[in-house]
Amino acid sequence: MDNPSFVGVPWLGLLLCGLFCMTVAALAGSAAWVRRTASTLGVEAAGRWNLFFGGLCLAFLVGALTVGLPALAAAWVVLLPALIAFTRRRDARVATSRRYLARSGVATILADIRTARRREGSRAEEPRLGIREQFGQLVDRMQAAAVKGRKPSPGRKHAAAPAAQPKGGFTFLKKDGTTAIEMTADGERGGGGTALSQNVRNARDVLLAAMRADATDIHLEPHEQAYFVRARIDGVLRDMKTMEGEAGKGVISAIKVIADMDIAERRRPQDGTFAIQSGPDRYDIRVASTPTSFGEKVVMRLLRSSGGVMAGGLGSIGLRPPILRQLREIIHKPYGMFLVVGPTGSGKTTTVYASLSEIDAHQHNITTIEDPVEYRLEGITQIAVNTKADVSFASILRSVLRQDPDVLLVGEIRDRETAEIACQAALTGHFVFSTLHANDSVATVTRLLDLGLEPTLIQTAVTAVLGQRLARRLCSACKEPCAPPDGMLKKFKLKPGAVPHIYRAKGCDECGGTGYRGRMGIHELLVLNNEIRSLIRPSPSITDLKKAALDSGTLTLQLDGLLKVIQGETSVDEILRVTT
Ligand SMILES: [Zn+2]
Repeated sequence: MDNPSFVGVPWLGLLLCGLFCMTVAALAGSAAWVRRTASTLGVEAAGRWNLFFGGLCLAFLVGALTVGLPALAAAWVVLLPALIAFTRRRDARVATSRRYLARSGVATILADIRTARRREGSRAEEPRLGIREQFGQLVDRMQAAAVKGRKPSPGRKHAAAPAAQPKGGFTFLKKDGTTAIEMTADGERGGGGTALSQNVRNARDVLLAAMRADATDIHLEPHEQAYFVRARIDGVLRDMKTMEGEAGKGVISAIKVIADMDIAERRRPQDGTFAIQSGPDRYDIRVASTPTSFGEKVVMRLLRSSGGVMAGGLGSIGLRPPILRQLREIIHKPYGMFLVVGPTGSGKTTTVYASLSEIDAHQHNITTIEDPVEYRLEGITQIAVNTKADVSFASILRSVLRQDPDVLLVGEIRDRETAEIACQAALTGHFVFSTLHANDSVATVTRLLDLGLEPTLIQTAVTAVLGQRLARRLCSACKEPCAPPDGMLKKFKLKPGAVPHIYRAKGCDECGGTGYRGRMGIHELLVLNNEIRSLIRPSPSITDLKKAALDSGTLTLQLDGLLKVIQGETSVDEILRVTT
């Protein structure tokens, strides 16, 4: 040990040895933590803090070797106040609930240590996989499935036939959540045994049929003699049925009453909302009516507010397992920004909500700013943007930031002001979710630069970008095997015969002759690493960015889609349709 006079007293020597080791660990650990925290949170004078803690380590080692015991005491006398001073500066840059020098500080520190450990553990277990490795794993899984005599796409559950009557009845709810009309399971009588009008029963039948077909919109269109009922399923309008003129008018009247619209007004456009509860499923429905030359036309938008995406979280939107694992890690970070990008109708909002639903709303203050509020989530503050009243994303965002949020959802980044405030929020201890209109994950960088953001702000604020499209799933009842095209095999650098067959669309009664049923996302996840960050400049090279993305393990939208073709979930045509 450093002081030879203690050699004769072994227990004292041991004690000092322990103290010495503890001090070295504390000094080195603090220096590493300070360096990491100062750079990620942008603490002022980060360089000086690093120099100070690094110097302290060195000074202690020199001191221990020369003066011995006094150096040990001096190290602690200097280290503790310095740590407190630095933590104070760190706390000033994070949300109140994440501060260390607070009443619940110890719990926060322990929670952070646990997440850091878990993150390191999962990183060590999962080395990043290239295309070939991912493909290899896929083939292994397919072979294993074939041995068991199953289809190559296990886990996919298709509702084979439309379900019978809904369990637990059917309820129309007013927009404030109170019950408007309750029905028994057979739908023939109301909650109190009262007889229901034919119009209400017809309205229920239309809604139930749409729910079973996973429709997103219902159109009730008046024509000369009849009403056409059409539904948007998987993004395409399809005829559902035709009603007699009077019956159609009756259904519209019933819906207008439930949605609190003026039933006598047929000449002016109106809108209203209501909800339906059928068994465990709850849908919020937005109604819009317009006068046409043959009468009143009504369009209803169905938003599933329970079950579905909300209950399934990120696991239910078709993410491949490696992306799912990476995403779950990203969204639980204490600060940063996660962007979902794609064109209109690519399922961005659904993905963002699925992510939010995985965050514990009891432990975090979650606030959303949307235009309009699409899904209702429990335990979350949801604010609607109102451009008419001059309540913009940017102005709400500014006021929300004063209310100590942990997690923020900014419905969409459309202008520089919103983008800048969102980035600042991400840099000051909040986790920000948002969506952006951009073609793919790499194009997001140029889109943000075009909005007028500083490259340094993008580099430091954005954690990851998920590019996304919606592709239709092949109907499991009628899909037929076919040989994979050569071009596809070349894309994966595979020999002919490596993939025995894929599937193509055919069409049957169950899928309305389209060959497809339901949709799933195809994704490309870009996690910003140091190399990618360094390429974000005022006029970046797209080629370099793309290469860096590939090197980091990102699979393009098309490759992600083709992997799903190999799994038998969709067709080559469909992937080409949505990615080119
Ligand atoms: Zn079919």
